[in-house]
Amino acid sequence: MDSACLFCRIGAREIPAEIVRESDRIVAFRDVDPKAPTHVLLIPKEHITSVAELGEDHSDVLVDIVQAASQLARAEGIAESGWRLVTNVGPDAGQSVFHLHFHLLGGREMGWPPG
Ligand code: AMP
Repeated sequence: MDSACLFCRIGAREIPAEIVRESDRIVAFRDVDPKAPTHVLLIPKEHITSVAELGEDHSDVLVDIVQAASQLARAEGIAESGWRLVTNVGPDAGQSVFHLHFHLLGGREMGWPPG
């Protein structure tokens, strides 16, 4: 845990967030500034700065995040209409929080490629 990291502190429940799922390895919570009707962030509890820092020993947490995203999409009622799971790495992609997170987005049509 990095006590200076916003998402570490949300994962440790030191900072409030609307948590929609939690396990021993991951937490999912609603984005404070949603970009779609469903906008949930999925994070590992372990501090990892981005997907670029994932190692071989992180495969379990990555599987947990993808499975949780799929289950949440069903729970949010967007499994059939469609959803997107994205992670930003670095400045060109617009990463603003340097704790690995995946955005689960859905509930509206989304353009491709992203702007
Ligand atoms: P990114 O730009 O990919 O790093 O995404 C960071 C996301 O975190 C943005 O969509 C923000 O709206 C979201 N965010 C920032 N602070 C909070 C917070 N305290 N609770 C929930 N979401 C947050």
